[in-house]
Amino acid sequence: MSETPGYDRDNVFARILRDEIPSDRVYEDGEFIAFRDINPAAPTHIVLIPRGEPPAGPAGLDDGDAGWAGRMFVVASRIAAQEGLAEGGYRLVVNNGPDAGQEVPHLHMHILGGAGLGPIA
Ligand code: AMP
Repeated sequence: MSETPGYDRDNVFARILRDEIPSDRVYEDGEFIAFRDINPAAPTHIVLIPRGEPPAGPAGLDDGDAGWAGRMFVVASRIAAQEGLAEGGYRLVVNNGPDAGQEVPHLHMHILGGAGLGPIA
């Protein structure tokens, strides 16, 4: 992934990637890390983020991002299975901007499950 102009290097996920603040990591590979959400919205709530400096949200993606962005889905489903969510089901959520309630400007995917989730995460 190339560096993203305007990327906020002090956002909380950038700081987690640099190990400046702790996180409860459940997965990592060369492209991604995943950790438990500090304010869970479901019994299992994991945040999956790409390493590096991604766009703030999906609105910043372009064709050159298709490879790693597609692999996020593959990794998310692998983590969901690892967490025992495959049978009961789970929800993947990517927020973009204020109407979605996005807080952290580093593209990320929520993995939610462990109970009935209702119509919207
Ligand atoms: P979003 O609203 O889509 O930007 O999601 C950001 C998520 O990051 C929220 O669900 C927060 O609870 C979560 N979060 C914020 N700070 C931390 C942290 N230090 N460790 C784990 N999760 C965090």
